[in-house]
Amino acid sequence: MKNYTPDDGVLAALAHDAMERWPETLGHLREDCRIMYQYCDGEKTKKGQTVFADCERVKEKYRAFMPCDYVITFYLAARGLNREGAVRLMQHELMHIETDGSVHRIREHDLIVEDFRAMIDAYGTDWIEGREK
Ligand SMILES: [Zn+2]
Repeated sequence: MKNYTPDDGVLAALAHDAMERWPETLGHLREDCRIMYQYCDGEKTKKGQTVFADCERVKEKYRAFMPCDYVITFYLAARGLNREGAVRLMQHELMHIETDGSVHRIREHDLIVEDFRAMIDAYGTDWIEGREK
């Protein structure tokens, strides 16, 4: 069984940094939705690929128990990232949020390599490595 633990403040700080860095695309999320962050101590794979993190919309019927619109989970693999890699990972997950403050949706990747063009354009295809320049 996998264990999930709530954010200790580190993930929220990463999200804050990502929103500051990309105010035009992510800044509105501060006002338009409620996001909760958590860790999972397990590994996750999808189509044979390691999943570092994911972003899910919270169903309306669960919001009495989880007062938020989205949950972002960082899996075991994300622990190996340096801070830059972790900020980029958070940035990626936040890009999955599509909201105008009333409607909450998940935005799918816009590239066949399961990523967003904006991420690839900014950092290249191996942005998860988070190498400091
Ligand atoms: Zn993604």
